Amino acid sequence: MSNAIYRLIYISNNCMEGSNAEMQNEIQCILEFARKANSAAGISGALMFNNGCFAQVLEGPQGPLEETFERIQCDMRHDSVVVLSYEEIADRGFDNWSMAYVGYNADSLREFENIKTESGFDTDAIPAERIFEILQEHLIDAENDKLAA
Ligand code: FAD
Repeated sequence: MSNAIYRLIYISNNCMEGSNAEMQNEIQCILEFARKANSAAGISGALMFNNGCFAQVLEGPQGPLEETFERIQCDMRHDSVVVLSYEEIADRGFDNWSMAYVGYNADSLREFENIKTESGFDTDAIPAERIFEILQEHLIDAENDKLAA
């Protein structure tokens, strides 16, 4: 069996409605489910919610990764799912995270402002590598959240 690890990066459009508190609550439910399921499947990664978009990095063995992404793609809490990159990697970027969460962040929000257009996503506005960097840069916030929780 291959030990190869793959990384998939996608963006999607939020379809959930409600107050900020209701949204946070729903995202918390997604994270709780994701953390349990991902741990069991050997998946690591990070999720960001910003400017009405989700951006997610998923890392793991090909079979479990594709199964997980298949379920995520069918989820009606978001739509317009666009895969920005899918490739084999040498090392995981989110080794200790079954699913880190990077919430509101003013710097990345500015970058995300350009990604949504009337006809969908402008995938040139933020390349996959930049999304990966943003999630890694802001992991420090997620770590603080984790410590505060
Ligand atoms: P079931 O629980 O059988 O549900 C079937 C469908 O009902 C789902 O596809 C969804 O469309 C809908 N649904 C389920 N719960 C709700 C709800 N509370 N409100 C509205 N509709 C609902 N899962 C992971 O395992 N790993 C991840 O990393 C991960 N990341 C996610 C990131 C985002 C942005 C979103 C929106 C979801 C994510 N999920 C993740 C959840 C995933 O999409 C599935 O809901 C979950 O894996 C359960 O799949 P299932 O087929 O067993 O769904």
